[in-house]
Amino acid sequence: MPTSGPDRPPPANRWLLVSDIDDTLIGDDAALRELLPALRAARIPLALNSSRPTESVRRTIEEHWPAGAAPPDATITALGTEIETASGGVDTGWQARFAAWPRAEIDRIVRELGFAPHASEFQTAFKASYAVPASAVARVEVALDAAGIARRTIHSGDSDFDVIPPDAGKAAAMFRVAACFGVAQEHVIVAGDSGNDLVMFEHASRGIVVGNARRELRERVDPERAYFARAAQAGGILEALRHWGLIPERSDP
Ligand SMILES: [Mg+2]
Repeated sequence: MPTSGPDRPPPANRWLLVSDIDDTLIGDDAALRELLPALRAARIPLALNSSRPTESVRRTIEEHWPAGAAPPDATITALGTEIETASGGVDTGWQARFAAWPRAEIDRIVRELGFAPHASEFQTAFKASYAVPASAVARVEVALDAAGIARRTIHSGDSDFDVIPPDAGKAAAMFRVAACFGVAQEHVIVAGDSGNDLVMFEHASRGIVVGNARRELRERVDPERAYFARAAQAGGILEALRHWGLIPERSDP
């Protein structure tokens, strides 16, 4: 674990990389094989941050993680409602904050308006997901407001409508991980490729927009706080970290 023990860098030199998975970290196997040991050598812990639930992310890692590479230091899943660290396991303290969240009531309200929940594999205790077309989102929000439901809602794609507790979310969870690892908020570096990564860029002082990023992200990220890589996927992350001098030009073993 590069985040503890005698090798831990002094606070001013501690960084954390928080990366989206699909089409950001994953997609270029050779670049990922180069990136992971380079992060380790530079003692920069890696946190994955995905909208998907844990099980789904676990399968992707099993499928794509390079043989022999260290596992991610932390995994944030289900839109920042779940956190797991390699050293500490599931962050039960994070989820304990959401214990009073009225999930059943939200289910009832959305169903009564006639909208179907997504399949159970996309649901978790603190991430409620439904198919709600854009034209109906306002109606659902009004109903949730009327019931006094404190929440954060995320609408993406054609009809994905997710409801999570107000204190959860990809940005809040990444700062929780940073605090766990003794990394200052301004030393959190985020990487992503699509619109659902934008919230990370809005909260981090350094972002990496990978070369294959979609316009929906590219056009909305503040260029003052982000590096727009030429290389795609993990190659873009390597390019940015080298640009900032955080890893050497060549990651000799
Ligand atoms: Mg992605």
